[in-house]
Amino acid sequence: MSGRWVRRAAQRTEEAAYLAANGEPRPAPRAERRADEQSRKQGAKQGRRLQAGPTGLEDPAVRGEHAAPPKPYTARELRRTYEALLGMYGEQQWWPTASTEGPAQRLEICLGAILVQNTSWRGAASALENLGAAGALNVEAIAALPEDVLGDIVRPSGHYRVKARKLQSFANVVIEEHGGDIDALLAGTTEEVRARLLRIWGIGPESADAITLYAARLPTFVVDAYAYRLFERLGHPPGERRYDVYREYFMRMIGTREEDVWALNEWHALIVRHGQGTCRKTQPRCGDCALLDCCAFGKTQ
Ligand code: SF4
Repeated sequence: MSGRWVRRAAQRTEEAAYLAANGEPRPAPRAERRADEQSRKQGAKQGRRLQAGPTGLEDPAVRGEHAAPPKPYTARELRRTYEALLGMYGEQQWWPTASTEGPAQRLEICLGAILVQNTSWRGAASALENLGAAGALNVEAIAALPEDVLGDIVRPSGHYRVKARKLQSFANVVIEEHGGDIDALLAGTTEEVRARLLRIWGIGPESADAITLYAARLPTFVVDAYAYRLFERLGHPPGERRYDVYREYFMRMIGTREEDVWALNEWHALIVRHGQGTCRKTQPRCGDCALLDCCAFGKTQ
């Protein structure tokens, strides 16, 4: 048995006796207390050093606090984007209609703008064809048809019950407030026509602008999911992802005069074409895109 073991056994016995007599553990011997004190001070010092040490996030730029917000394109940069899209797809000049120039065509554009909500143009076009085949490409017939029958006719456009109600809400306003005259609904300035359309149940900003631009041929910009996606991917959104922010920016950049209608028409059509065929939501075809060199997202693909 070693002397060290004997000393340790004796120490344990003394500690047990002290605990039994005093109800608390015996204080550590002075040497141990000194060692404990030193270790505590050392720990505190290390703690202070750790708190003050570099975390890798000292630079506000690294934390993203002072990161410069993305800059919207200047007029010249926007023009280059437009030319690249035009080079890829050629002139579009919408809106595709079966009717030729005149009130019938304008009504078809209005109905198409409602039917295309939340669906592809193919579905809306098929619903328009059905309306034509049923002899219901006029506001009187749309208003008079039972809602479920109208729903069946426009079924290819999806959400067909709601779309039938929206078509009837539109037809009723044209009949009751404008004597059934689509041109009376579309008469006035951009803001007058737009405000009139926005008061109709079932017509939101995108449909109102599509009708104002393509049916009334008044200057406005149609903002849609393709526009948000494209400019966010390019790394130059006009600002917050809000309808009015995008609309105001594009109108300021492209123009608000009668002669700007052509460019406003073409811009929206090209963005849609690009969003559907190339800059798709999933698996965008960046390798085929003329904007790849200046696209923040495309360069990461
Ligand atoms: S490079 Fe890709 S992500 Fe960028 S605009 Fe073209 S298709 Fe869209």
